[in-house]
Amino acid sequence: MLVEELGISTRTKICPRSIIETVHTMTILPNPKFSKYRIALTKVISFIYFLDDIYDVHGSLDELLLFTKGINEWEISAIDSLPFYMRICYMALYNTTNEITQMVFKEHGWNPINSLTKSWIALCNAFMVEAKWFAHSHVPMADDYMRNGTISCGVPVVLIHIFFLLGQGLTHDNVNLIESYPKLISSPAKILRLWDDLGSAKDENQDGFDGSCLECFMKENPYCSGQGARDHVMLMISKAWEELNKECFFSSSSFSQDFVMACLNMARMVKVMCSYGGEQKLPLLEEYINLLLLGKG
Ligand SMILES: [Mg+2]
Repeated sequence: MLVEELGISTRTKICPRSIIETVHTMTILPNPKFSKYRIALTKVISFIYFLDDIYDVHGSLDELLLFTKGINEWEISAIDSLPFYMRICYMALYNTTNEITQMVFKEHGWNPINSLTKSWIALCNAFMVEAKWFAHSHVPMADDYMRNGTISCGVPVVLIHIFFLLGQGLTHDNVNLIESYPKLISSPAKILRLWDDLGSAKDENQDGFDGSCLECFMKENPYCSGQGARDHVMLMISKAWEELNKECFFSSSSFSQDFVMACLNMARMVKVMCSYGGEQKLPLLEEYINLLLLGKG
């Protein structure tokens, strides 16, 4: 994938994207034996960033509608009507999803294509909803924002891919469950969405409505101060953590321990990933990258 060709904006000025994505996967699936899955997952996370930039920065509303329609069709012929920068992303996503499907089928004897494509379709539909809100300067109700935001944060896509890559507990019941976004998936998704909103990276030319839960909450509660809204979001994060801890430590799960740990690790890394310093820098993440990959303290 040619990042420059896509005209992708950098989310952070200090860490090359590929390093950030590598750290994501090393945190979620730290076991050395999952190296191959980490490589596949790095591609998945890269696509979430590419798509997010397409929807937030590059695409006009008309282009985005076409792109979303094409993703929903999931047919390579759908690219004919797309602008060039969207075509290469669409094709790369289509091919990469097929590659991952083949890997899962070869290793675990299960064809995950329907579930994987559904996860990408849901993500793009959620991005489209946000693009429309932004285009019309519409601030949604906090509940609507959160329902959509737990999908648009990308966590379900990542965890659904991990479920199939691990290939553990592959039953029809579990596949149906995973597609309905159980708490194991929705809790880390809420945690990421809310922390990211508190950090509120504003490098995406979305002055005004920045797509934040804080703004939705303040609209519904006009007498609430900015600090009051932040306190409320912190409370929501605590509740999501309680929910996740219950799922991971106090409930019997039909999912494997590796998958449960991946969901937990996903939530654990959120604070590091969303601790924005000035100028949209990620100082804590930079420190961890230096320690982990470059051996610098
Ligand atoms: Mg976005």
